[in-house]
Amino acid sequence: MKYFGCILTFFLLLAIDTKPTGAVCGYESCPETKPNLVNIHLVPHSHDDVGWLKTVDQYYYGHKSNIQHAGVQYIIDTVVSELLKDPKRRFIQVETAFFAKWWQEQSEAVRQSVKKLVNEGRLVFAGGAWSMNDEAAVNYQSVIDQFSLGLKWLDETFGACARPRIGWQIDPFGHSREQASIFAQMGYDGEFFARMDHRDKNNRLDNLAMEMIWDASESLTNDELFTGLLYRHYSAPPGYCFDVHCGDDPIIDAKSYDNNVKSRVDDFLSYVSNVAKYYRSNHIMIPMGDDFQYEDAQVNFKNMDKLIKYVNERQADGSTYNLFYSTPACYLNSVHEGLQTWPNKTDDFFPYASDSNSFWTGYYTSRPTQKRFERDGNHMLQTAKQLSVFADLKSQQQKEDLDYLRQIMGVMQHHDAITGTEKQAVSNDYDRLLYDGIIGGASNARDALRVLTNLPEGEFESCLQLNISECAFTQDSADNVVVTLFNPLAHTSSQYVRVPVKEENYQVTDEKGRLVASEVVPVAWQVLALEYRQNTTQHELVFKASVNKIASYYIKKVDKVESKEIVLPKAAKKSVKQNEKNLEVPQRFKKVHSMQNVETHADDDSETVVQTSEIKLVIDNNTGRLKNVEMNGVSEAIDQNFAIYETYESGAYVFRQKEDVDLKFLEDKVEFTVYDGALVKEVHQQFSEWISQVIRIYEGVNRVEFEWLVGPIPTDEDTAREIVTVFDSEISSNGVFYTDSNGREMIKRVKDKREDFNPDLGRQPISGNYYPIVSRIALEDINKRIALLNDRAQGGTSMQNGQLELMLHRRLVQDDGYGVGEALNEQKYEKPLIARGKVYLILNSVEESTKVERLAEKEIHLPFWKFFSSHSQVNRNAAAKPLADFNVWPQSVHLLTLEPFSEHEVLLRLENFLDHIEGNVVSFNIRSILDDLGGVEIRETTLDGNMPLSEMKRMKFQHDAAGSRPKTAEFFTSQHKPLVAHKSQADSKFSVSLKPMQIRTFIIRNE
Ligand SMILES: [Zn+2]
Repeated sequence: MKYFGCILTFFLLLAIDTKPTGAVCGYESCPETKPNLVNIHLVPHSHDDVGWLKTVDQYYYGHKSNIQHAGVQYIIDTVVSELLKDPKRRFIQVETAFFAKWWQEQSEAVRQSVKKLVNEGRLVFAGGAWSMNDEAAVNYQSVIDQFSLGLKWLDETFGACARPRIGWQIDPFGHSREQASIFAQMGYDGEFFARMDHRDKNNRLDNLAMEMIWDASESLTNDELFTGLLYRHYSAPPGYCFDVHCGDDPIIDAKSYDNNVKSRVDDFLSYVSNVAKYYRSNHIMIPMGDDFQYEDAQVNFKNMDKLIKYVNERQADGSTYNLFYSTPACYLNSVHEGLQTWPNKTDDFFPYASDSNSFWTGYYTSRPTQKRFERDGNHMLQTAKQLSVFADLKSQQQKEDLDYLRQIMGVMQHHDAITGTEKQAVSNDYDRLLYDGIIGGASNARDALRVLTNLPEGEFESCLQLNISECAFTQDSADNVVVTLFNPLAHTSSQYVRVPVKEENYQVTDEKGRLVASEVVPVAWQVLALEYRQNTTQHELVFKASVNKIASYYIKKVDKVESKEIVLPKAAKKSVKQNEKNLEVPQRFKKVHSMQNVETHADDDSETVVQTSEIKLVIDNNTGRLKNVEMNGVSEAIDQNFAIYETYESGAYVFRQKEDVDLKFLEDKVEFTVYDGALVKEVHQQFSEWISQVIRIYEGVNRVEFEWLVGPIPTDEDTAREIVTVFDSEISSNGVFYTDSNGREMIKRVKDKREDFNPDLGRQPISGNYYPIVSRIALEDINKRIALLNDRAQGGTSMQNGQLELMLHRRLVQDDGYGVGEALNEQKYEKPLIARGKVYLILNSVEESTKVERLAEKEIHLPFWKFFSSHSQVNRNAAAKPLADFNVWPQSVHLLTLEPFSEHEVLLRLENFLDHIEGNVVSFNIRSILDDLGGVEIRETTLDGNMPLSEMKRMKFQHDAAGSRPKTAEFFTSQHKPLVAHKSQADSKFSVSLKPMQIRTFIIRNE
């Protein structure tokens, strides 16, 4: 009965409250403030993790209350109902993943009421991305994607009133500069968060620096963002949690013995007056909410109503406090209008330490295979998006499949997903979702390739376990197989392709029937020994492919004699002849050296040299490890090894060393075998029972590849193990190293130092020097530079001059006490998890540009995607469809996004990926691309694609350094004239320039 009563009230309210009014949204809908009082902006919010202790759906439906009582659908239900009761009430909705799901289930009447709330600025979106993304382990491409997705949903559902004005990153465990830059490029006015190093925060409290201007890019100008730190986490003031989850006293204002109005108001104002001391303006923001609160929103709003009423009543008696419902954006608007000046910030907020023994740096590496799988998801997403545009895929199923993958990738960016800080069962669910998403994306890619290539019936199978050399498509035979390669990059790229095969002889030809040099190489025995791996193929066929956007290569089994006869094509041109010496295909690898051989004559043969025309590696025969690298005209002693942190109190979030326990390097002699091919040289190394590696150098490739295999990591009751790889050089780096910010700009790090404060490193000297490495870590001296690039996010540091360290894998025995409630102890196939991945080394002279590192980053992040079909599907008569040619763009222009946007629109995002030191302004014309894509009109938008750039106007704040306060409120608008053009206009209208690191986003209309 009670339940029925609630529903009835709800619909009555809907009936009376949906009339259109002359309402306004945005800053015009902000509550009135009082200039002479302390204005307290009460911000009702609920922090709804898109998966953590429970799965996304369990949280949404309120399932599995035994794990955690949380049901997002009820939160939105009751919040909407409570907002409708009083136009003064406000609520911010953050995670669009949940809100979109809820919206699908609503009646038209409810939807109309919600639209009214949005249009009147009562239900306000903050952040607004699909999830509240992590900032350490995410790549900028995926962050931009998930904001584009969330903001697009909001725009299509509600229009401009729903567009968020501020970032609300309250829970991520540290904050990246790139995230701030992305907010600025989307036209946001500011961002707020809650977690910061405890010492940094204390300093900021003392120095009135809780709010600042973040200079979010060294290359971009005007890329500043107002950034505010919340006073006390993101929770309500102590004692004022008016929520069914809390036991705090309600406000009792009737004639009752328990009437507590006076004490409740006194205590609240005493808290507030304390907060106000630490902020510069006469406005303060008080968040009212916490994890999964507002499930019965009446409790929250009823008590807040009373609090507001009784606090403001005191103004009649001279109280200087003014309390009202507000939003973070309205708070920021008041601060902006206050015309003050602010301190600035130039680096980032990593690592985050909640106390001197708790640096949250373990999650940079936690769940290494999930972090890699997320990269596969992005790789497929970009592939499927671009192919959908080229093939103009339009069916409902294709659209849904692509949307689903976009959404899952949005979920994966969540600060308990890619971070690896969720429970094991939730991690399994993320894997399930992402796998489904990738399958849908692959299905779109197949549909597109059937249109775009000469294989109208091609299978275009993807193999998701190529990292352990497994592929169902080639396991029985790789004879008459077509490998179709898709290159997501703008420019033609040459990369080596590896296909799992049996130990047989193969011939590879390209689309024109030209023979391509190839060879068959053995797979490391440690991979073959994996119990769960099917051992039908023990070799890989390697060949070098050159691909503009799409290219097919044909694999045919041959016997050795035959192969020699067809080596030289009849009409051999000079270019082919140059390859003649490489064309002894198929060439079997020679096992040229092994440790056992070496030991017998170690005196005269103390090292083994492995080299291509570009790179020379020297292996020390006594240790079995790498000892010297020569490339790019530079030679350096580089010793690469693996090492182990034996820990106990580490958890999914925190990497916490035992006191006085040093990093243990592996000291046993490494057994190694060298395989010397014409295209690739490999050194297979066995470091311990559960650590092995393949070092590879390819002919014509200027980087060294280290493919590591780690696990199952042994642990015992009181010893966890965290595995790192260490590259030791003699480069005098003087404590300085460089790490990327979300895979884009680099940030200078100085060992034991921070920009604004002295970190407390007494207890955790190493963990406190760990930084997130999403794509690259580097160091240099006046002569040389080494950079390591990785294939997934990891933690890394430089603890000694010349030394770089990356954490690869961790298996733990304790929970670290931050909520997840489980030890990170991943099991797969009933054994502790084994992980495999790659690290790449580039050694160069400091004189040389780091452009090569940028190019490598792009190739590693978005390599060719391989699709497999059988040769019988080739239709020689079917012509491959010509595709847009992006090679006309300058080399430093990255095709960041090309995707279907709406029914007749395509989104195109371009990036100059060189920074202000590496590159210059590049100018080019995009008319030909518009024509190739069948475009009629083009318009430029903010970074997310949803707002015309011409409408962007975002708050500008004055730096303290300016010396005086601004006289009027100032704003940034676009620095260049936004491009808007129709195909009937002259070519000159389509010219584009990109400054270093600049990204420009366009919507192309097709008809
Ligand atoms: Zn959270």
